[in-house]
Amino acid sequence: MTNPLLSTADLPEFAAIRPEHIAPALDVLLPAAEAALEQAVSAAVPADYDALSAVLDVPLERLSRAWGAVNHLNAVANSPELREAYNTNLGRMTEFHTRLGADERLYAKYKALASGPTAAALSPDRRQALAHAVRDFVLSGAELQGDAKARFAAIQERGAELGQRFSDQVLDATDGFVFYANAEQMAGVPADVCLQTHEAAAAAGREGHRLTLQIPVYLPVLQYATDRALREQLYRAYATRASEFGPAAQDNSGLMTELLQLRAEEAALLGQPSYAALSLVPKMAESPAQVTGFLRDLAQRARPFAERDLAELKAFAAEHLGLPDLQAWDQPFAAERLKEARYAFSEQEVKQYFTEPKVLDGLFRIVETLFELRIRPDVAEVWHPSVRFYRIERPGTGDAPPQLVGQFYLDPYARSGKRAGAWMDVVRGRWQRPDGTPLQTPVAHLVCNFASPVGQVDGKDRPALLTHDDVITLFHEFGHGLHHLLTQVDELAVAGISGVEWDAVELPSQFMENFCWEWEALSRLTAHVDTGEPLPRALFDRMVAARNFQTGLQTLRQIELSLVDMRLHAEADAPGRVQALVDEVRAEVAVNPPPAFNRFQHSFSHIFAGGYSAGYYSYKWAEVLSADAFAAFEEQGVFNPEVGQRFRREILEAGGSRPAMDSFRAFRGREPRIDALLRHQGMA
Ligand code: ZN
Repeated sequence: MTNPLLSTADLPEFAAIRPEHIAPALDVLLPAAEAALEQAVSAAVPADYDALSAVLDVPLERLSRAWGAVNHLNAVANSPELREAYNTNLGRMTEFHTRLGADERLYAKYKALASGPTAAALSPDRRQALAHAVRDFVLSGAELQGDAKARFAAIQERGAELGQRFSDQVLDATDGFVFYANAEQMAGVPADVCLQTHEAAAAAGREGHRLTLQIPVYLPVLQYATDRALREQLYRAYATRASEFGPAAQDNSGLMTELLQLRAEEAALLGQPSYAALSLVPKMAESPAQVTGFLRDLAQRARPFAERDLAELKAFAAEHLGLPDLQAWDQPFAAERLKEARYAFSEQEVKQYFTEPKVLDGLFRIVETLFELRIRPDVAEVWHPSVRFYRIERPGTGDAPPQLVGQFYLDPYARSGKRAGAWMDVVRGRWQRPDGTPLQTPVAHLVCNFASPVGQVDGKDRPALLTHDDVITLFHEFGHGLHHLLTQVDELAVAGISGVEWDAVELPSQFMENFCWEWEALSRLTAHVDTGEPLPRALFDRMVAARNFQTGLQTLRQIELSLVDMRLHAEADAPGRVQALVDEVRAEVAVNPPPAFNRFQHSFSHIFAGGYSAGYYSYKWAEVLSADAFAAFEEQGVFNPEVGQRFRREILEAGGSRPAMDSFRAFRGREPRIDALLRHQGMA
């Protein structure tokens, strides 16, 4: 039998891969990786970059490419058989990589290499890759001995368990609330939500509408229900989930304290002053003080706008909604009404102007103009007939042929068996392989979930219509794709998005989003599906105004969450005074502090059960970087090729080969500033 997962063809054989290929492929690839590890740590292999890379990186990359194809199919072409095969084999992959990441012999080899005589002669890219490898070993406790090592492992295990319990209890507390509303109480709520909650009630053998704290129910009720008492009831339930105000078995108070204590202890074991400091070691931000300084500066600048937003909202609620004492449970309701009164436009109307072919063509032209590239259709085996494949080329000069830069798959439409959302994923990275084969060019997946085309006009298929949000999503993922595909780094571990700091990785993606708010760019993406007319300028202006609606209040809310996260992980006494610390941050930042019973931190899964601990600031951080980068284009012309070339060279091509701050400075000629973000969001 020929197993497509063992194929050494240029690209994955997506059409041929079946669930029954997975286990036999791993039966070959995992032992090969194991053997490579044993050989790499043996005395037979010197502490030499090429020697280690040839022995270890080649089989590891082969394994990761095969598993990458399986993982991808599991996300975009799921079936019960595939899911079962995936889940059965996932543990084998995790087990191997956990062991690899903690192998002390391999760490010793890398250390010997880093401090050995050949280190100085390594290229900067290789030095960076090696530094990352050594750093990651240190952060996973490789330097610890004896009791400290055992304690570190115990903390990891207990931390994972507490994080899981935290998220389980949030889930249980969320699911624990049900309220049956009658038709009168549902006044104002959109018809589809009324229908869906009515059906849920009927399924439970009850009358009326089954209301829960799930976002698709909770949010529209808060935004649209005219019944104030109903809004208050849901708000109270939502804001106190998993807290001391609910069942003791779902109270996260103790878990938060223990998690914060454990994290502080972990940081101390690794010689760091706090968990916040530890979390920042592999990130772009340099210190907790830098992050809190950044957040406080932004808060100060956003504050007047937040005060204005709140004053407007209060005045509108008093005058038009009969709510002279605006409460937390009135705010989403009043905001929706005010937004509607001011900027009403129909998403349906906007959609008619964004046909998929026009949007794609416009996106490709923008990228080609900015970065001096060509994007052309290409041919590859795919997993669904709607999937396309493209190649990006650098035009040849004179008689020279075009040069292949990278290739990408585009899987645009939602369908059953495909995971929701949108993402960029790596098929393979750019790499000058140690086996002497020609340079490996990068390949990426761009996956979206747009509505498929429906219907025909004059015997021809109607194109798919995208919402403006869809267009933004496409540009966002394309930005990630460019970051991965345009790299000129030949070292796999720091090529493209590999090795890029976690809080800088959204720079190119959010950068690309800006074009969707730029008239000169956006107008090129539009042609009415029936008339071919471009988007009217007046409609565009309303879209921009709606985008900036209440950004002052939203910004302060994000800063409040970020400061709470940072201070909880930076201050030694925080585990014992979580609520007091939250109150302090609110007093400092919020223009409209929530009610005293609000316990949002008890369901703040991002930082207690997700990967965002001492990292929540990165949302705002990356927005500042991307807005400031885009401002360089605004200053010198949105399609200025000279600025485009510089962005390509200093940010996109450099990838993870140097610190993101160095790349930013090389592009902008200075450190990032927050002015552009404030201006883009109407706060200047
Ligand atoms: Zn992203």
